[in-house]
Amino acid sequence: MYKITLIPGDGIGPEITRAALRCLEATGVEIEWEVVEAGLSTMEKYNTPLPPSVIDSIKRNKVAWKGPITTPVGEGFRSVNVALRKALDLYICLRPYKYYPGVRTNFQNVDIVVIRENTEDLYAGIEFEEGRKKTKELINFIHRLEGTKIKEDSGISIKPISISASRRIVEAAFRYALKNDRRKVTAVHKANIMKFSDGLFLKAARKIARRYEGKVEFEERLIDNMCMQLVQKPENYDVLVLPNLYGDIISDLCAGLVGGLGIAPGANIGDEYAIFEPTHGSAPKYKGMNKVNPTGMILSGVMMLKFLGEKEAANRLERAVARVIEEGKKVTYDLKPTFNDPTAVGTKEMAEAIIEKIR
Ligand code: NAD
Repeated sequence: MYKITLIPGDGIGPEITRAALRCLEATGVEIEWEVVEAGLSTMEKYNTPLPPSVIDSIKRNKVAWKGPITTPVGEGFRSVNVALRKALDLYICLRPYKYYPGVRTNFQNVDIVVIRENTEDLYAGIEFEEGRKKTKELINFIHRLEGTKIKEDSGISIKPISISASRRIVEAAFRYALKNDRRKVTAVHKANIMKFSDGLFLKAARKIARRYEGKVEFEERLIDNMCMQLVQKPENYDVLVLPNLYGDIISDLCAGLVGGLGIAPGANIGDEYAIFEPTHGSAPKYKGMNKVNPTGMILSGVMMLKFLGEKEAANRLERAVARVIEEGKKVTYDLKPTFNDPTAVGTKEMAEAIIEKIR
């Protein structure tokens, strides 16, 4: 029996979590759920979207399954997702993008895993607002230090990339490739321009790659070229490892290749803890309408089962999802040929169709 933290989230979170939970339970894997609240509901009750009890629960159980959570705008709260990644040092963002027959897309040979560094780069949050005293000081400091004149009316974001964080993310990519029988890791960068940040990432990647020679192939791509290659020949790519910003952008590009956000799962993983969740957000406009696709949440459950070592149950659930998508009947609006297709079913009904295929 596993004990796992369950965070239904807000917006469409609770309804996709309910639907996905029934699918996971239908596999027969015994899990005791510790349900904790985070997001808009706790904002109202406790004036924080992330009560400490959530972190405590994940620390106890080591693994969490999470629905999407809205980031409150303009109220001084940063994203709950970012806060969780920081508090638990979840430095790996793992996202598999796989084509399932039946999904409407021009790209049918896609089976790519994106491994994105989660803790540094331009997303480190080191920001200097235009017009502030400390921003002016920084501009003057840079001018004094190395002669570059940054325009007075600039805002500045800092891009730190370290050897240690680069090494551990590339190491994670190779470990993943080896464990999951993937043939190749591609490191993505712009080291020709950003020599001391992306250059460092690339150097670390090359060093780690040497240790896997003969076991997993290694190649390098410039980020701009990578974008073009992915839309021209996505079948040539396998595991991609990227610094934070490029990883974020390429993740959405890959989600587009395989048919959109509704079906893409993800996980944030560290050395001690792991959180599994869909890639999409809380889509507030669809809240409570029983309309959206539960697949991203269900497939994140598949990833979690694999992580727990429940490979057979995970494969059974994934096959059931794939069959429902391939039949194309009991699927939500986003998987139908037109947006207003009257034959589209709801979140709950799609989950029920999946459960029938598991049995
Ligand atoms: P979103 O992913 O919530 O929704 C964008 C659009 O994608 C929706 O309007 C809908 O058309 C479509 N979509 C999303 N999920 C779908 C599904 N399951 N089935 C069918 N269609 C689906 O992105 P957003 O509107 O930019 O963000 C809304 C909120 O979610 C924001 O507050 C954002 O910060 C948050 N967010 C949270 C997470 C997370 O919790 N991990 C991730 C991304 C965004």
